[in-house]
Amino acid sequence: MFEMRERAGLGRIGRLETPHGVVETPALMPVVNPSRLTIPPRRLREAFGVEVLMTNAYILHRGDLRERAVEEGIHKLLDFPGPVVTDSGAFQQHVYGRVDVSNEEIVRFQVEIGSDLGTALDVFSEPEDPREACEEAVQTTLVRCREAAGWRGEMGLVGTVQGGLFPDLRQESAQGLSELPVQVHAIGGVVPLMEAYRFRDLVEVIVASRKGLRPDRPVHLFGGGHPLVFGLAVLLGCDLFDSASYAKYAQDGRMITARGTTHVADLRYLACDCPACHGATPRDLREDQQRLAEHNLHASLRELREVREAIHEDRLWEHVEGRCRAHPSLLDALKTLRGHVEFLERFEKATGRHVFYTGPETIWRPVAWRFRRRVLERYRPPKAEGILILPEAARPYSRTYAPVLRRLFRRASAHALVKSVFGPVPVELDGVFPVGQSVVPRELDVEALEASEAFLQAFLRKGHFAFGLLWEGKESLEEIAAKAPGEAPVDMDLARARALADHQFGPRAADALLAGEVTFVKSKRTAKVRNILADGKHALSLRARDGLYTLKLAGGRRLHGAFQAPRLRVVVVEESAPFNREGKNVFAKFVVSADEAIRPWDEVLVVDQEDALLAVGRALMNRDEMLAFGQGVAVKVREGLAAV
Ligand SMILES: [Zn+2]
Repeated sequence: MFEMRERAGLGRIGRLETPHGVVETPALMPVVNPSRLTIPPRRLREAFGVEVLMTNAYILHRGDLRERAVEEGIHKLLDFPGPVVTDSGAFQQHVYGRVDVSNEEIVRFQVEIGSDLGTALDVFSEPEDPREACEEAVQTTLVRCREAAGWRGEMGLVGTVQGGLFPDLRQESAQGLSELPVQVHAIGGVVPLMEAYRFRDLVEVIVASRKGLRPDRPVHLFGGGHPLVFGLAVLLGCDLFDSASYAKYAQDGRMITARGTTHVADLRYLACDCPACHGATPRDLREDQQRLAEHNLHASLRELREVREAIHEDRLWEHVEGRCRAHPSLLDALKTLRGHVEFLERFEKATGRHVFYTGPETIWRPVAWRFRRRVLERYRPPKAEGILILPEAARPYSRTYAPVLRRLFRRASAHALVKSVFGPVPVELDGVFPVGQSVVPRELDVEALEASEAFLQAFLRKGHFAFGLLWEGKESLEEIAAKAPGEAPVDMDLARARALADHQFGPRAADALLAGEVTFVKSKRTAKVRNILADGKHALSLRARDGLYTLKLAGGRRLHGAFQAPRLRVVVVEESAPFNREGKNVFAKFVVSADEAIRPWDEVLVVDQEDALLAVGRALMNRDEMLAFGQGVAVKVREGLAAV
């Protein structure tokens, strides 16, 4: 029902199938009130490209249109041929304190009117609700969702995560719902947080919920309709948004942009070229509520397209870091992400295009954190007494510092690293993603510099070297040569190859991959290593783009022999094995288990249940995703055993 097509961290471009067509996610569902249509649904589809609508079944159930809705069905009533999602009235419970409808009545009503996705009557928890009340709301919501699953018929069911501001309750609620046959998850109770700009709390709620949810179902941020939060919420794994705001804000004369909200009454210049604003003056918008609502919707849909494009171009983090500078409360929210870096890292790709430093938050991105951790845990330096610590410089470091390194290795028993803002970078690893692909400003923030010092100290505490010396100019060479006279006969090609093997595949991968006779095949044009042959067989290719290896079958055989299961493995069922052996991709539904350490875009070994090697390829999912998804490719196979 839901398939992930592209990804950036927890953010994804997906396809959600419904009885009335496919929706591309992340998607915004404009909320329409059937008895008060600000913009007619047909126009939403034709002029705005809206694929999916949301309407409130509770209001419909109570109002004059109830019978017509049952008779004609919701699609005809709204004059909208695409999918329609309905809400149950939980939000009215937040607004009015109570609702007078039972779970069964409202679920059966949604089935009757032909909703594509209907919602069980969840119990809304307010942010200030005490723990006991939230606990009860979670339990009642779970019971109601379980009941609703029995009444839903052909309708898809939305199960809503509650739990107030208690992360453990959110996670528990999410886990409970993940076990039920629901098609979409919603995160509820968040409107009061967004209205009060409590974005820090919003992050905590989304992350806690996401931790408990199974990854193969789309997640709807209930009431999340302001474009200000789209990027951040998508980055944390939200796929669907609904917006009543475009119309509501227009009623109050408020104009929505991706940077916030302004009163049209205060406007002197109109800095928007959307179809509604084109040729208009602030006054036109002030006097025409409909036109303002149309602008608000255009602005919201536009931000969602920008988020999709940012996923497609693999720069979602940059997009979010930029957007979060629009308001201090959002900046706070961005800063809280570092507290969740370990969770976020599990979904972060092994590679990427580039990393632009936008502020001290950038050094806490999961890819930077992962790099630091691997240097601490996996790096084995060449034998040398001292380490020369070089400052940030233009990339690649080894080219910038080539003269220094030449003299250093000739005169001292010393190695070198760059004290980068992302953490210490041994010179052999200077081309590796994300460091080699990062761009940092000349002037760095004090917070980032302090962090960089702490990262360096953690590395030095590993005790690889007897001493470290900070580069202070040419005299530092004299100093280190006097302190540790000698030489470091570094075969840089081999040192790089070994360091990268351990960094990418894990401790001792270099011993397996680079044993025996190693031949480097270099590019004629750049003189850089392109292919590595081990005992005459092509084991690895080195990608210029991200400085990482592509694993060939010969390399895969070596790792398979040296590493015990489950390391690097994706295990498939028997019926899939012959296809993968022939070089066909591995579909998620055929995966029975996988190494927990696998990250999207990692090079992996495909094996059968007896641990016989079938193929090598690139994972597109992490373990949890491979095990959960019923659709989509888990491993893009590069070479199958039978193909050679
Ligand atoms: Zn506009």
